[in-house]
Amino acid sequence: MMKKPYYIDYPQKHFEGQAHRYRCVHCKEETTKINGKLEGHLPSCAYRMQLEKAGYEALSVTAKSAELVDADEFD
Ligand SMILES: [Zn+2]
Repeated sequence: MMKKPYYIDYPQKHFEGQAHRYRCVHCKEETTKINGKLEGHLPSCAYRMQLEKAGYEALSVTAKSAELVDADEFD
């Protein structure tokens, strides 16, 4: 399975009349609620379904995942 540390490349839209608040175009969840996580979108969200279909997991990903990258590089 593939993972991304953050899912922030979804289309966003302003809340009406609220310059500093954005939401997902598809599921209408606020960006602060989504918080860069795939599961922050609704299960019916087109963006989420597209990524899940592509093999990405809708799981919480912490900063710890970066530690997995540089193992086994030494002789
Ligand atoms: Zn969404």
